[in-house]
Amino acid sequence: MFEVTVRDSIASAHQLPGYDGPCKDMHGHTWKVEVSVAGHTLDKVGLLTDFKVLKDKLKKVLMPLDHVVLNDLPAFKGLNPSTENIARHVYRAMREACAPLEVKQVQVWESETASVVYYE
Ligand SMILES: [Zn+2]
Repeated sequence: MFEVTVRDSIASAHQLPGYDGPCKDMHGHTWKVEVSVAGHTLDKVGLLTDFKVLKDKLKKVLMPLDHVVLNDLPAFKGLNPSTENIARHVYRAMREACAPLEVKQVQVWESETASVVYYE
């Protein structure tokens, strides 16, 4: 099994209503977002997928999440834009963008020392 991972980042604002602490107020992060795709079969060149193609897909998925207030986006209507919910949103969007390639997981880093992994 091969696994290919690419990384990009978004810089945005969010707030987490209901959180008992400072994160209930508006603040910002630079989230690092990593997506991993997996498969057994390589193409004639020897690639599972082209890094550039995968990076372009991730960039398209992340563009609407960059330099915005995440709470204002339809994707997070009725949901706090927690790192967990961001990871699930990106996973599902990448799964649609990458089909039939299997998206194994999305990992979102909120800081250098804290991340969330989402997979289905
Ligand atoms: Zn935060």
